[in-house]
Amino acid sequence: MSDTEKNMNNNEGQANQKNSHANDKKKNFKRYYRPKTNNIQNKNYNSLKNNKNISISIVIPLFNEEESLEPLHKSIYDVVTRNKYNYEIIFVDDGSTDRSLQIIKRLAYRDKNVKYISFRQNYGKSAALNEGFKIANGDIVITMDADLQDNPEEIPNLINKINEGYDIVSGWKKDRKDSFVKNQTSKIYNFVTRLVSGIKLHDMNCGLKAYRKDVVKSIEIYGEFHRYIPVLAKWHGFKKITEIPVKHQPRQYGVSKFGLSRFYKGFVDLITVTFITRYVTRPMHLFGLWGAIIAFIGFMIEFYLTYEKLIHNRGLENRPLLFLGILMILFGGQLFSTGLIGELIVHNSNKDKEYTIREKKVE
Ligand code: UDP
Ligand code: MG
Repeated sequence: MSDTEKNMNNNEGQANQKNSHANDKKKNFKRYYRPKTNNIQNKNYNSLKNNKNISISIVIPLFNEEESLEPLHKSIYDVVTRNKYNYEIIFVDDGSTDRSLQIIKRLAYRDKNVKYISFRQNYGKSAALNEGFKIANGDIVITMDADLQDNPEEIPNLINKINEGYDIVSGWKKDRKDSFVKNQTSKIYNFVTRLVSGIKLHDMNCGLKAYRKDVVKSIEIYGEFHRYIPVLAKWHGFKKITEIPVKHQPRQYGVSKFGLSRFYKGFVDLITVTFITRYVTRPMHLFGLWGAIIAFIGFMIEFYLTYEKLIHNRGLENRPLLFLGILMILFGGQLFSTGLIGELIVHNSNKDKEYTIREKKVE
């Protein structure tokens, strides 16, 4: 059993918690509830068959969510103890400037299964998820937003679905409690992403999702890629992706952290994700092919004009086609060389990253 797994063992936490209760009083912390320890023994982390043996990591990215954190922890705590899960909660503080970090530290002090990472500045939700995924130890990794819009009561449903054999189970905010504009734009995004990726999800960007551990350990997310995690996962070979409708609540405290910029950033990243998932290993398939086709048409145009000049003595002045031909040759050549440079980069980069391995026996 690794050190981190030991951490998740609640028996060990018992002794620590007695101390922490005493210290709590000393420091005059406001206590809303007292986490109890559950007595689960004989944990076998390899089996996902029944709840007693399941270890789950709940990864929560947050940016200035001070009011929500206490009630969020309480409701997650209720669910995981009721279901007797071995759990860890990983709060990733994405450079909050309010009291979020203090509150997380207090929670970690009370509940030994709470871990946290705090960024020095705001790097974005994708970065936060990425770092949370790195330290997650659970067999099943669950992500949820910190703003109480996602309901922890859905966790058992997500887990049951994963146990049916899925790699990813995404929440679907069927009855979404956000503004009209946000709901409609999101529908368009989901439609386009469905078309491009072939993944049949209604709600690609739902914060509430469950993953088999392998999935989160295989993908790298940055920029606004958190919107397209299922697309990246599919590209890595995790094709069993499904969804379940989940309850959604309006934001109770604070404000949404994504303004209008979400629309264009999301769009640019959709293009990047499409490119990465389709052409990253073979840039020449895209750039080389189209570069060659365009340059070839340009050459044909110039060839035709030269023929006209030499054989029929038609002057080249006043022939816009001349410029179109030149433009196409130059543009096609540039595209082609971009493809070549891309190939060189791919060739020299770390190949291991591109292949997701299911199992290995190397000795
Ligand atoms: N979030 C984050 N970093 C950011 C922006 C947001 O960690 O730069 C977190 C935020 O605190 C929340 C989750 O991502 O827990 C979803 O954000 P939000 O509720 O603002 O998004 P919305 O529900 O409006 O789509
Ligand atoms: Mg929200």
